[in-house]
Amino acid sequence: MINKNTKFDIIVVGGGHGGIEAAVSASKLGMDVLLVTLDVNATGRMSCNPAIGGLAKSRVVREVDAMGGLMSQAADSTGIQFRVLNRKKGPAVQATRSQNERSEYEFEINRLLKTHKRITIIQGNVVEIIIESNHIAGVILENGDEFQCSAIILSTGTFLGGKIYIGHNIYDKGRIGESADNKLGQSLENAGLRLLRFKTGTPPRILRSSIDFSATKVQLGEEDYFPFSINNEVVLPVSRQECCFITWTNEKTHRVVQENLENSALYGGMITGIGPRYCPSIETKIVKFPEHDKHIVFIEPEGRKSVEMYPNGISNSLPEEIQLKMLHTIPGLENAEITVPGYAVEYDVVEPTQISHSLMSKSISGLFFAGQIMGTSGYEEAAGLGLIAGINAANWISKRESIIFTRDKSYIGVMIDDLVVSGVDEPYRLLTGRSEFRLLLREDNAWLSIFETLPHDILEAISGDRYYIMRRWYKSLNRVKEFITSRSIKSREADELCVAPGTSLKNYCNRPEARWEKLSRMYDEIACLPARPSSTLRTELKYEGYINRQLREAEKINKLHTLKIPADMNYKGIGLRGEAVDKFEKAQPIDIAHAAKIPGITPSDLTSLVSAINKLFHMKHST
Ligand SMILES: Cc1cc2nc3c(=O)[nH]c(=O)nc-3n(C[C@H](O)[C@H](O)[C@H](O)COP(=O)(O)OP(=O)(O)OC[C@H]3O[C@@H](n4cnc5c(N)ncnc54)[C@H](O)[C@@H]3O)c2cc1C
Repeated sequence: MINKNTKFDIIVVGGGHGGIEAAVSASKLGMDVLLVTLDVNATGRMSCNPAIGGLAKSRVVREVDAMGGLMSQAADSTGIQFRVLNRKKGPAVQATRSQNERSEYEFEINRLLKTHKRITIIQGNVVEIIIESNHIAGVILENGDEFQCSAIILSTGTFLGGKIYIGHNIYDKGRIGESADNKLGQSLENAGLRLLRFKTGTPPRILRSSIDFSATKVQLGEEDYFPFSINNEVVLPVSRQECCFITWTNEKTHRVVQENLENSALYGGMITGIGPRYCPSIETKIVKFPEHDKHIVFIEPEGRKSVEMYPNGISNSLPEEIQLKMLHTIPGLENAEITVPGYAVEYDVVEPTQISHSLMSKSISGLFFAGQIMGTSGYEEAAGLGLIAGINAANWISKRESIIFTRDKSYIGVMIDDLVVSGVDEPYRLLTGRSEFRLLLREDNAWLSIFETLPHDILEAISGDRYYIMRRWYKSLNRVKEFITSRSIKSREADELCVAPGTSLKNYCNRPEARWEKLSRMYDEIACLPARPSSTLRTELKYEGYINRQLREAEKINKLHTLKIPADMNYKGIGLRGEAVDKFEKAQPIDIAHAAKIPGITPSDLTSLVSAINKLFHMKHST
């Protein structure tokens, strides 16, 4: 029992991916934290598929890791399959992804969370935030309990006014099996905050024994990857990894969906919230892309021991009997049995331009936000925001400066900047295309960016052991850089490296054909660099020219805000993302400053636009 008169430094509302990281980072900075969540047994639950990482998100997991977060550790220790996406493409877009044991991930996150003694966890429904003269003073729970605090971090996921839709059936829930109401949303509106209505969805879960895997393509794991946490060196051998499977929808599947669109909550007019562009429902894929005669479906295990499989790619809000009919048209799923139907969930989010870069409300001091309530979608996005909200709430209480990342240092920084400056008009998901500094925000150098950016007393407090690892790596990295920069290749070494004697070692390392295994064999100074900082250094040297060019281009864009956009500008075929094309066509911006203010438009979209305008200009003036 906790005394209701106890005053906490920080109250975190929500035990999801954002709330957990927020509570942990704040507690490590000396704060007494109360974590209130609707169901303590659902703390750290993965609402959708049990997978961590993927494009851009894997870098976020590594940033979270460098700042002492829990997600990376739980993902490593509960992974059942690991893969590196885009392995054949450049380092800017490579991404590690783990498939995880759902129940063990939740268990592990809770185990790690409970080691933090300054965090008190209670089950309860926060229905009101108490504000006194524009300052946070506490929260009121549904049972009437009141708790005082200096700051609140709201990370309520899809529960604010949450409604679940399965065909024509509607339930007041934030997730299947978990009730939601909108008293807290009302309290936020009473406090003058503007809310938006978004939606997301999930596919049905299928009984493993009802799937004919012989009709699908097997997707094996890989063992040539770096675990998410810098604390872990051990990889999971492929022999101990689980397989995923690939199948495809077909014309029959599409016909079932088309014939039942009026029964889908999304297309039958029940849902008004805006869905995620980058994770569309199967209804949306079929309606928006009628020219596609098939869509990929990844059949992923929910765990080694789980009897359920997750068919990634067919989230929907159709009635359960139609979901079954649709599944039965897909190879391998002809006899599929549904254990839990797919559904759509509609929920409120706080319009994020009301929030500052520190993640504190612009109008109510001490009110911080993290996770899906800010308009994002995804576990990793939530964890990144939560971790920063925890640090900044603690810093605000201790009267220290907020941690605000510039866009070239962190994907968490890119996300926060996109959210609070441009706002959102659909669920926001991190993509490599959102960053104009993609080559600077790689997976391999997340630790380095964080180490160079955060004040070291804060980093030491939140990262613990991981801080000392980074400090060791940083010193060795700089020693090797210095060695490479100052050393020339001697005559007796030149033959082995196939270069002229006297060539600088740095010059050799900049070449695509540079052989690091050879260098490690030849020079003890290079051999002693541990594997991860070595991979950071290799990439930096190999892509040095591109990295520098990217930095110069980004600098230029800031000077170009007054550049006029031709009235007849054709936005297609100039390297823009589909989302940016749609938005520019709709808004018809007159200049770059105007284009930059359109919600969801990123600096990298602006870079493409500026270069297309420049090309047009040169074409006109050279003819
Ligand atoms: C159906 C569905 C499908 C999804 N699909 C995907 C996907 O495919 N890919 C992906 O990356 N992400 C997906 N997501 C999103 C992902 O689950 C979330 O982005 C992520 O979990 C958000 O983390 P969070 O901390 O903001 O909220 P959550 O993890 O949702 O946690 C919110 C927490 O807040 C608590 N809470 C809420 N209101 C109150 C209150 N008033 N008082 C006390 N506690 C409260 C809840 O109990 C819960 O513990 C999906 C989510 C859902 C629901």
